[in-house]
Amino acid sequence: MEERPQITVRLPDSLYRWLMEKVQSNGSNAPYPDVNQAIIALLIKQKVQEEATPACPRCGSPGEWLGSVEIPDHAVVYAQYRCTRCGNGFLRPQAPRCRPGGCPERSAG
Ligand SMILES: [Zn+2]
Repeated sequence: MEERPQITVRLPDSLYRWLMEKVQSNGSNAPYPDVNQAIIALLIKQKVQEEATPACPRCGSPGEWLGSVEIPDHAVVYAQYRCTRCGNGFLRPQAPRCRPGGCPERSAG
């Protein structure tokens, strides 16, 4: 088996306790069987989340999804994001808004 990269990290106590609550010990039904798998799963979760969100137009860091915004008289619902690095707020078109009586056609571009 190929050798994987390995790192050692010093964690703040609060983060260590939070992590260990997710690891099975003494018959607890925590989600992960050991610390290694817990860290890998949590990092993968974060990676997927970052890759799923658009980049901040100001600094290029991933945006954190805050919610959906409906702007009156616009046929589109916007997803609202806040940059995880610089705090810049920005909107991205999310989906055509469905009105009573049917959804508008999805326009290209
Ligand atoms: Zn930013």
